[in-house]
Amino acid sequence: MILLDGKKTSADIKDEIAIEVSKLKEQGKKTPHLAAILVGDDGASRTYVNAKVKACEKVGFASTLVKLNATISEAELLAEIEALNINDDVDGFIVQLPLPKHIDEQKVLMAVSPNKDVDGFHPENVGKMTLNLPTFLPATPAGILELLERYEIETSGKNVVVIGRSHIVGSPMSILMAQKRTVGNATVTLTHSRTKDLESITKEADIIVVALGVAEFLKGDMVKDGVVIIDVGITRVDDSSKKSGFRLLGDVHFESVAPKASYITPVPGGVGPMTIAMLMKNTLLARAQNEA
Ligand code: NAD
Repeated sequence: MILLDGKKTSADIKDEIAIEVSKLKEQGKKTPHLAAILVGDDGASRTYVNAKVKACEKVGFASTLVKLNATISEAELLAEIEALNINDDVDGFIVQLPLPKHIDEQKVLMAVSPNKDVDGFHPENVGKMTLNLPTFLPATPAGILELLERYEIETSGKNVVVIGRSHIVGSPMSILMAQKRTVGNATVTLTHSRTKDLESITKEADIIVVALGVAEFLKGDMVKDGVVIIDVGITRVDDSSKKSGFRLLGDVHFESVAPKASYITPVPGGVGPMTIAMLMKNTLLARAQNEA
């Protein structure tokens, strides 16, 4: 079993981006600038946004964190988004999800200018992705493609099973893996909460992408020998032995699945850091496009 080291791979990608940024700076060109909007005070969201800001510092990007109160109205949030849309210094920005219940998430994502939409969530960019046209790929699926590519894992003609059909992970993952691309050309099955006899499907899979948000859901008796496992799930569970008071669990029961797997991502240190690295890559791309 080989561990797919997202921490190391993402550090490599960030080093590559940092070199690009120093070249830009040497040439007197504009430094890439990523902004993030954080609404409310959810602990996990704060952690993710802080990690994104830290990654910006690591690669030499400028970053702006816009912190807004959980009680902000939808109209006020839309005004903040418009301010970033028209700010020429900001190349790309994200709105950290989830948003408070009184705000229409889809409306907010549609307000982000597609050429600054480095999360790749705007319908225009989702459409381009679906048609396999150049665009910002959503960071988590893009990070998974990159990890598979760098570990030279064959996907062409393989049976890929995706568990979970969210707009940010499962659905785009299933679309990308089926496309004619370097990491792709797979025969994909997208499964979800209404899928019947999931186990009979996962047992036939060469590669399983697990993104349902149920800790340790996928067990060893649900997979075949030699399977490649990509664990997207992140669930916080209380753990008084940790300084933070919690530990992170993936959607895969690592102890029973890892011995059967040829490759597997750990949690933490697998898909999570790759997501952040791909956000940096998208921001670099946004800067280049905005300059053109
Ligand atoms: P979500 O919570 O929006 O949706 C869950 C999906 O799982 C749904 O499509 C549902 O149909 C499916 N599902 C639920 N129960 C199921 C079952 N018993 N069998 C099969 N399918 C089932 O999903 P999400 O936003 O993609 O998040 C999934 C997990 O991934 C969460 O733990 C989240 O924290 C994590 N996540 C991690 C990253 C990262 O960078 N590592 C990024 C995004 C999300």
